[in-house]
Amino acid sequence: MVKKNVKHPMKGRNERISRKRFLRMGMYAACAVAAEFIIPSCGNIDRLFSSPDDAFRVRARYWEHLSDRAVRCTLCPNECLIAEGSRGRCRTRVNRAGVLETLVYSRIVAVHVDPIEKKPFNHFLPGSRAFSIATTGCGLSCRFCQNWQISQSRPEDISAESISKEALIRRATESSSRVIAYTYNEPAVQFEYCIESARFARERGLRAVIISSGYINAAPLKELLRHLSAVKIDVKSFREQFYRDICSGTLAPVKRNVELVRASGVWLEIVVLIIPTLNDSPQEIREMTRWIRTNLGEHTPVHFTRFYPMYLLTNVPPTPVSTLERCREIAVAEGLRYVYVGNVPGHRFENTYCHACGSLVIRRTSIFSVENRLINGACPSCRTVIPGVWS
Ligand code: SF4
Repeated sequence: MVKKNVKHPMKGRNERISRKRFLRMGMYAACAVAAEFIIPSCGNIDRLFSSPDDAFRVRARYWEHLSDRAVRCTLCPNECLIAEGSRGRCRTRVNRAGVLETLVYSRIVAVHVDPIEKKPFNHFLPGSRAFSIATTGCGLSCRFCQNWQISQSRPEDISAESISKEALIRRATESSSRVIAYTYNEPAVQFEYCIESARFARERGLRAVIISSGYINAAPLKELLRHLSAVKIDVKSFREQFYRDICSGTLAPVKRNVELVRASGVWLEIVVLIIPTLNDSPQEIREMTRWIRTNLGEHTPVHFTRFYPMYLLTNVPPTPVSTLERCREIAVAEGLRYVYVGNVPGHRFENTYCHACGSLVIRRTSIFSVENRLINGACPSCRTVIPGVWS
C-alpha cells in the first residue's frame, strides 16, 4: 500500500503530488485496462502488511569489492559504485560495512492473479493465470513509467509482506495459476529471490516468467534464464538518445539481452510502448522491426501498445490508434509475422492470425483469450504450426 502524500522522486524530496493530479493519473490508469501495470492504492493487492526490514536483507549476488569498503554492483548496466552506508540507483542494494546486501529478498509489495495476456504474452499458455508479484525499485527512471509508485520508491516507503518460495508456490497453486510472473517493477533488482523461487517453482511444475526492461548484465541474465519459461522485454525505443533522455539508461544492453534470450530458447515476446512524438517515427519503427526480423526472427511476437499520460509525461496525449496501426503495417512490411496492437480493447489485431493462411487462431478481447482454435499448437485450417508455447 502506498503511503499518503507520495513524494515525487524526480522533483526533490519535499515536493508532493497534488490530490487532483494523483486522481487524474488514477483515471488514466483505469482507462489503460490492458496495460501491464498496477497502482498499489487501487485495491488490486491481495494482502499487504509491514514486516521488519531485516527479514528482507540477504547478501547480494553480482558485485565486487573496491578500496575503502566501497563496492561496485555488477547486476545491471548502471554498475553503481556504492560507498559504505549508501545505496545503488535502484534503491534496493545497500553497502553495509563493505558488503553489498539486497533489501528486497522476498519483499513483496503487490500480489495479483492476472491473465497471462495482461503481461502481455500472446503465444505463451493462452488463457492461463499468472500469479503476479512485485517489489520496489528499478535501474531505470522512465519518465512515463506506469508503475512509478513502486519502481521509483525505496523499499521501506511501501508496505510489504514476506513471501517465502514455499508460500509463493502454495498460493499460486491455490489460485489455479500455472505461471509465476515477476512483474510490475523490474525483476532484475530482486535477482536473488527471483532466481531461487523460479527454480523452486519449476521443480514443482510451475512456469516462471519475467516482464522486464531487459536492463540487466549478461552474466546474471544467463543465470536467470536457466530457470525461466518466458521473457517479455520492453524495447522502449530504438534510439540511444531516448534511453538517455527519457529513461536515464542505454539501449545497447537491451538489444544484447533480447538476442541472449532468443539464443537461450526461452520464449520471447517484445513490447514497444508507442509515445506520440517521442518514439513513433516511421523511420525508427522501420529500423527497429528490421533489426528484430534479422536478429530475432520473423516469428518473434511484437506488441505495439498505446501510451496514456502518466507520471512525468502528462503533457503528451494518448497514442492515436492510427499510429499503432501504422507501426504494425511497417512491421509487417519488414517481414514480422505476429504483430499486435495493444491496450486498445476490441481491436482486431489483438487476435492471432495464422502466418501461413491468415485464419484467426486465437480471438482476444482486451486481456482475455476468448476463443482458442489451435489444434496441438497448429492452425486448424492449414495445419501450420504456430510458434509459441501452447501446453
Ligand atoms: S542493480 Fe541497482 S545497485 Fe546494482 S548496478 Fe543496477 S541500479 Fe546499481
